[in-house]
Amino acid sequence: MSDFPTLLINWYRKNKRLLPWRGEKDPYKIWLSEVMLQQTQVETVIPFYKNWIQRFPDISSVAEASQDEVLKYWEGLGYYSRCRNFHRACQIVINNYDGKIPNQLEDFRKLPGVGDYTAAAVLSFAFGKSTPVIDGNVSRVMSRLVKFSEPVEKGRTVFRKQLEEWIDPENPGEFNQAIMELGSLVCLRNQPHCIKCPVTDFCVGFKSGSPEKYPRKVSRSPIPHKTMAAAVIWNNSKFFIQKRPSNSLLGGLWELPGVEVTNKKSKEHQLVKDIKKCIGFEIQPVNKIGTVQHAYSHFKVTLHGYHCRLINNNLLKNPTKKHGWISSDGISHYPFPRVNHKLFEILQEQNWEQ
Ligand code: SF4
Repeated sequence: MSDFPTLLINWYRKNKRLLPWRGEKDPYKIWLSEVMLQQTQVETVIPFYKNWIQRFPDISSVAEASQDEVLKYWEGLGYYSRCRNFHRACQIVINNYDGKIPNQLEDFRKLPGVGDYTAAAVLSFAFGKSTPVIDGNVSRVMSRLVKFSEPVEKGRTVFRKQLEEWIDPENPGEFNQAIMELGSLVCLRNQPHCIKCPVTDFCVGFKSGSPEKYPRKVSRSPIPHKTMAAAVIWNNSKFFIQKRPSNSLLGGLWELPGVEVTNKKSKEHQLVKDIKKCIGFEIQPVNKIGTVQHAYSHFKVTLHGYHCRLINNNLLKNPTKKHGWISSDGISHYPFPRVNHKLFEILQEQNWEQ
């Protein structure tokens, strides 16, 4: 019988998907693809990756760009802290490592946003280091291969130990990509296609007759729902936008000012009150624009949008907070959350009439 890595890698060579970053040798592009792929589907990432590489072909082009610009290219991909961290990490590589991505685990792991998974992936794919990757797909595959009965989160040490035995030291990058691909194409979440699997002889879950029982399912709490109201505050033909703090959800993106509504019957009243408290503007809602829905990873939101008249803008609080006045043409220059874009789409349908 062939050994585990030989069977797995031979299968991979015949069955791997053609992806824009597959076979890539440039550590920067490998690193970028791994950051984009975190918690995001391959099909979603492909156009963002291609677009990004066109504008930012190397590390120095990222390091020299403004945060607004890199976030604009990330707009719609979600988990924006990935982009902010990658931007800062590229600047550190330029300033501290002479533009060369460090190929030692201790150095690479210190860069912003680089966790165990990203470090293992980049170091094995780009520099041939024999470090196993353990992401969601690999954890699922491993929990079936070793018939791990606990929730998958508890299995990292067991999985790592087994993978360190199996990984091909001559070809660690290809081995890692092969086991990830097995999780994406064959050992699927709901139904493993064992008939197509190259490593059934090694799979204790398969031999048990019920591999789909692994990993053990844990019930997730329901996703919370928020009701929000946002103001399009007009001053002549321009409206007000503000930048979200870097350390917040959707940090670094620009937005229409808004509030979470606690009393659904008085959305407008609460909007007026909270905007005066937080920004200092006195406003008057004049027209409802519409309502949009959006689902983030951790909550869902219903956003009610209002055209608002500015009564008094002499009270702008928090003057260091970034803010600006833009016309509808200015939207393309700033990164906004998807939920704001949905409101802009309604405004566009209404020809931006107030
Ligand atoms: Fe997954 Fe089945 Fe292969 Fe085991 S034999 S790794 S359960 S696809």
